[in-house]
Amino acid sequence: MATINDNYLKLKAGYLFPEIARRVGAFAEANPDAPIIKLGIGDVTEPLPQACRVAILKAVEEMGDRSSFKGYGPEQGYLWLREKIAAHDFHSRGCDIDASEIFVSDGSKCDTGNILDIFGKDNSIAVTDPVYPVYVDTNVMAGHTGSVNDDGKYEGLVYLPMTADNNFTAPIPDAKVDLIYLCFPNNPTGATATKTDLKKWVDYAKSNGSIILFDAAYEAFITDPDLPHSIYEIEGAKDCAIEFRSFSKNAGFTGTRCALTVVPKSLTAKASDGSDVELHKLWNRRQSTKFNGVSYIVQRGAEAVYSEEGQAQIQELIRFYLDNASIICTKLQEASISVYGGVNAPYVWVKTPDGLTSWDFFDKLLQACNVVGTPGSGFGAAGEGYFRISAFNSRENVEEAMNRITATFKG
Ligand SMILES: *Cc1c(COP(=O)(O)O)cnc(C)c1O
Repeated sequence: MATINDNYLKLKAGYLFPEIARRVGAFAEANPDAPIIKLGIGDVTEPLPQACRVAILKAVEEMGDRSSFKGYGPEQGYLWLREKIAAHDFHSRGCDIDASEIFVSDGSKCDTGNILDIFGKDNSIAVTDPVYPVYVDTNVMAGHTGSVNDDGKYEGLVYLPMTADNNFTAPIPDAKVDLIYLCFPNNPTGATATKTDLKKWVDYAKSNGSIILFDAAYEAFITDPDLPHSIYEIEGAKDCAIEFRSFSKNAGFTGTRCALTVVPKSLTAKASDGSDVELHKLWNRRQSTKFNGVSYIVQRGAEAVYSEEGQAQIQELIRFYLDNASIICTKLQEASISVYGGVNAPYVWVKTPDGLTSWDFFDKLLQACNVVGTPGSGFGAAGEGYFRISAFNSRENVEEAMNRITATFKG
C-alpha cells in the first residue's frame, strides 16, 4: 500500500489567503456594488520593463533559427547572466562573490524551500515572527517540526518575535540554533536591518557554526545609502550565509520567473562523521539533478535588467511603488493610525487602532472602507494587532483607498 508524507497533515490548511477570499467573497455577494480595492496581495501590478520585453522578443527570434537555437542550458544559469549579477549586485557593493557561486533559478520561493534538501534532519531552526510562511511550511513538510499549537506555532521551531518593542529587529536567540531565516527588507513588516544588526547575526552564526538563510527579495527598495543590500556586505558572511534574490519584485518578474541563490564556496557544514562539507558542491549536485535551468528567453530578459535602460526602468518602477508606500504612510498617520515600514520596502505594517485584533480590523476596513489588506496574525502570533498594506497597486487605487480610510478613521 502506498503511503504519504504524513508531515503534510501537520500543515495548517492554508488558512490566511483562503480565509481572506472567503470573507471578501461573502461581503461582495451581500454588497454587489461595493467598489472593493485590494491592497492585500504581495504581487506586483506594473508591466514588465521595456528593456526586458525587447530582450525577450529578440531571444524568441533566436530560438526560431537553427543557428542560434538553444536547447538545455547550464543548470546553474548562463555565465553571461551570472557574471552580470556578480558585477552589478555584489562587486559594486564590495562583496567578493564570484559568478560561479551564483545559481540562477525560477524563483526564490522554490529555492528557500528546496535548500532544505542539502541540510540534515536534526538542525534546530529559527524563524522570525511574523514570517514569510514558506520558510515555516517547507520545514513542516520536511519533518523538522512537531504539530501546530493553538496560536499557530509549530513545536520544535524557535520563533524570534519582531514587534514595535524591539523596533522589528530579529532578536538573537538564547538557545543555539543551526539554521536561521532572515528576510530584510522584511515581508510582512517592511522593516530593514542595519549593518550592525546583521553583524550581530554573522558573529552569532560564526561562533555557533550556524548558517543564515538570507532572503534579499526586496533589496532593490532600499534607498537609504547606509543600509546593506546584501548580507555579504558584512565581513565573515561568506563563511555563514546563503543569500536568495529574485527579479520578481524589482523588475516585475513574478509571472516571468527568474531568481538567484548565492552559495559561497567557503561555506561548509558538518557531515555526520564530523567532517566539513562544502555546501556549494551539494547545492550544485542538487540543482543539476532536480532542475534543468531557467529558459534562455527569460534569462535574456533578466540580463536586460542590468542594461542602462533596464536600470533606469526598474528604478522608475521601484520609485513608483515607494511613492505609493509613502502616500499610504502619510494618509494613515493623518488618521492617527501608527505605521511602520513603507520607507525602504513596499509594505506598510499598520498597528491596528483601538486595540482591534488583526481580523477585527480586517472586517472593519472591508465593511466601512471596502478596502482589503492582510491580517498580521496570519504571518505569526507576534503579528496579532498588526495589519499589512501592500504598495503594489495603481496610484489611483492607493489614493482612493487611503481617502476612504482617512474619512472613516479621522476624528
Ligand atoms: C515575493 C517574495 C520572494 C520572491 O519569490 P519568487 O519565487 O522569486 O517570486 C521571496 N521572498 C519573499 C519574502 C517574498 O515576499
